[in-house]
Amino acid sequence: MRALLFAANWKMNVGPAEARRYLATFLTAYPPQPNRQVWFFPPAVSVEAVATAIGNRTDLRAGVQDVYWEPKGAFTGATSSPLAAEAGAKAALIGHSERRHVFGETDEQTGKKLKAVVAAGLHPILCVGETLTQRDAGETLTVVRRQLHAALGDRVEVLVTVAYEPVWAIGTGRNATPRDAAEVHRAIRAWLKERQAKETRVLYGGSVNVKNAVELLAEQELDGVLVGGASLDPQVWIELVRTAVT
Ligand code: PEP
Repeated sequence: MRALLFAANWKMNVGPAEARRYLATFLTAYPPQPNRQVWFFPPAVSVEAVATAIGNRTDLRAGVQDVYWEPKGAFTGATSSPLAAEAGAKAALIGHSERRHVFGETDEQTGKKLKAVVAAGLHPILCVGETLTQRDAGETLTVVRRQLHAALGDRVEVLVTVAYEPVWAIGTGRNATPRDAAEVHRAIRAWLKERQAKETRVLYGGSVNVKNAVELLAEQELDGVLVGGASLDPQVWIELVRTAVT
């Protein structure tokens, strides 16, 4: 059975009290499944609540949605990797398209964040993906390779998960076809192999829901999914994690 990772990105939703209620529902209805990991990326203020609720369940993890690259200091409003780790985070999203396109994060900053995350012992999920204009111009693979190189360099010595998230598919209700996704996933794997990367999972993200998850995950190139909207309701999320085929 192929191992799958289901990552829930709650974005700027679900405070600590709601997170505790969500996890109580989730833990009751979802016992560990073989070869299935479920990771939660709540807002930073709810990481501790999620990590505490997860307790010793090794199939579940809490993570942060973003970090600043410095470990500590006068950086008002920012969260560092060591602080996130202290709150119970074991993973971090890096270079999510909303960080890149809403907050203006550059490739160089994404690279610095990835290094900081690894230094603090968190597992990075590096998000890459093209805009609609770039896709229409036939630049998808050029953009994705540029983002990979900026974050990972010429030789990939760190353990990382890559999430391919076409910007035009995030929160829009439009998702890539399994074939479109698989083609980019293959290019990502080839890029990683050329740079001696260790075993790397490649996830797909962009308007994944209960209906399309089965079809997407039937594509063997996908090692899992990164999901925003459809992860906000615990019942919907449980259904999505359960129904997807292996
Ligand atoms: C995301 O936030 O990474 C995402 C893919 O969002 P959505 O599932 O809502 O498109």
